[in-house]
Amino acid sequence: MEEDEIDYSNDYDQIDYEVDEGTEDYSNKLALQRKNTSISILLPNELIKIRERLIKDCCEATSLNRDDAITVLIFYKWNLDKVNQEWFEDVDENRKNFGMDLSDKSKKELEQKNVETNSKFCLVCFIDLDQSNSFKLACGHNFCDDCLKQFINTKIEDVFCCLFSTCMQQNCNLRIPESIFEKYLKDNKTNMEKFEKIVLRNFTESNSDLKWCPKDCGKCVRTENHSSMEIECECFFVYCFSCLREGHRYRI
Ligand SMILES: [Zn+2]
Ligand SMILES: [Zn+2]
Ligand SMILES: [Zn+2]
Ligand SMILES: [Zn+2]
Repeated sequence: MEEDEIDYSNDYDQIDYEVDEGTEDYSNKLALQRKNTSISILLPNELIKIRERLIKDCCEATSLNRDDAITVLIFYKWNLDKVNQEWFEDVDENRKNFGMDLSDKSKKELEQKNVETNSKFCLVCFIDLDQSNSFKLACGHNFCDDCLKQFINTKIEDVFCCLFSTCMQQNCNLRIPESIFEKYLKDNKTNMEKFEKIVLRNFTESNSDLKWCPKDCGKCVRTENHSSMEIECECFFVYCFSCLREGHRYRI
């Protein structure tokens, strides 16, 4: 391995993956590992690659499709070992708990309310549906594109709960998968970028070795030393890794 390539297989603690080498991003000097200080600065591109690799491995381990694999990884905080240990213990129950299938409670409540499935009209605005203006969710609750688009674009305002959004139908616990967010955000560049940020933050939050620059410059720092270590970001902001406040120790 060349000296200026990042070897994730050795030092990426929880997520033990090597990232494809030889791509242009890796020649980017910002990505160089700062070997002497055991700090590395990661760009969103690199994090996306690590995330994608993990999704692929999860698909293989569980035979789930991409959307479902992402759901499972989110609930297991991106820990593939945990997926391997716990997912198969009770797949049916896990699917209900993670919003991949209707929960017993949802099923009962929806039946009581007589909510229609596979309706020919939108359950929100009652417009007639055909294949060109609608999208079927796995629960069978049908909505028109306009209602879904509005719903999804509102959901991303809720940074903390966005990834746990459920079907627009009241009482339905079915989780809205990533591909549906992408489908309805793709015409709105600003919101799409917002969503991508939410997705990456969810991925990095689960790893205590990673923190985003508090100046919001888009760079993420990885270090295994979690003491109140000072980080000097590529944007020149100096901050404390443990509390994220402006650097408050004398630097040597
Ligand atoms: Zn509608
Ligand atoms: Zn539903
Ligand atoms: Zn920064
Ligand atoms: Zn501090």
